[in-house]
Amino acid sequence: MEPFRGVFTQQEAIPENAIAAAVEVLRSGRLHRYNTVGDELGATSELERAFADYQGAEYCLACASGGYAMSTALRAAGVAPGDPVLTNSFTLAPVPGAIAGVGARPVYVEVTEDLVLDLNDLEAKIPTTGAKMLLLSSMRGHLCDMDALQALLEAKGVRLIEDCAHTMGAQWNGRPSGGFGLAGCFSTQTYKHLNSGEGGLLTSDDPEFMARAIILSGSYMLYERHGAAPPRSTFETIRLETPNMSGRMDNLRAAILLPQLSVLEDSVRRWNERYDLIARSLSEVNAIRLPHRPNAERYVGSSIQFLLPAIKPDDARAFVEANKKLGVELKWFGDSNPVAFTSNHHSWKYVDPQVLPQTDAILAGLFDMRIPLSFTLEDCAQIAGIIKHTVRETTLSGAA
Ligand SMILES: *Cc1c(COP(=O)(O)O)cnc(C)c1O
Repeated sequence: MEPFRGVFTQQEAIPENAIAAAVEVLRSGRLHRYNTVGDELGATSELERAFADYQGAEYCLACASGGYAMSTALRAAGVAPGDPVLTNSFTLAPVPGAIAGVGARPVYVEVTEDLVLDLNDLEAKIPTTGAKMLLLSSMRGHLCDMDALQALLEAKGVRLIEDCAHTMGAQWNGRPSGGFGLAGCFSTQTYKHLNSGEGGLLTSDDPEFMARAIILSGSYMLYERHGAAPPRSTFETIRLETPNMSGRMDNLRAAILLPQLSVLEDSVRRWNERYDLIARSLSEVNAIRLPHRPNAERYVGSSIQFLLPAIKPDDARAFVEANKKLGVELKWFGDSNPVAFTSNHHSWKYVDPQVLPQTDAILAGLFDMRIPLSFTLEDCAQIAGIIKHTVRETTLSGAA
């Protein structure tokens, strides 16, 4: 079998118009977001306006990272030390980290085989924990039934903050991910849907929440220069009561994000071409279970997940190894020893240990692969062929 020679961490180059915009900022020397001349808006404020418009949100704050957007959102929402915060049991480390960062306690909710929040387990845990906040992580881009979730949370008086690190550009029944609760948190880190190395975006329709978030981000008293902020009057008391916890975005990053945002819809289409090709091919093998993607979900296939249910740990390791030999980089979420981004709730020792049998059974057979846009459709067909081949070998040896 011909090995694949592409690089799974290789994103596309930054577009030429973004490079030109970055050079212009560098030439000006005015990289700080408030270092503007006259009534010039500055790239950071322009980005806030453009992203608020893209999301159909009233307000947007550009900040230092997705993790910073989440902890700022929790703080601006009034989550206090010791408060329980519900979140997905299958997520990435910055999510429990953001909850711990405000001194609150992560309470994990089971996930289903489709890798979304288990709404039955959520309903059971709301009264037993007394939690008043859910930090929903649409991990690896899988959206739960957002209409059902919203109805449940409203009935139980629980507020929602969305972690949209993998769902920028995704929708549920035509509504953008990030627009279902108090706030949406996005990342512009290199492996997400816009690439500025590091960066975050926080959206909301709530003026007081956003005023607190802006002051928290370190706006000094320059909040009137923001691109999508509530009116001056909202800040009157908030500006004196809210601490500065600097985590601003700068004009250099914003300058390279703006041109990327203008082609995000096209990137979504290209990701999904690649995702759908690989998914269609993998679905031909019985041993592989792909998460179901409901019609209401408009996903962004920047990565793909599949299950080999009941695979044993040694076979899972051998399967990852066999793929690696053929140039295909898979991650396995079931490993007791976290590798790269695959840490799971057992690795987060700063959180009270919790019993999650359903999640553990799913993670034991869960594999993940990045789909960078630098891969062609031919690359994707070759990759799918290699995975199918290695699955068949694993299955034939009686392992899966
Ligand atoms: C990347 C990521 C984040 C946070 O992003 P950073 O910008 O790296 O802080 C949050 N949630 C999920 C699920 C992620 O993958």
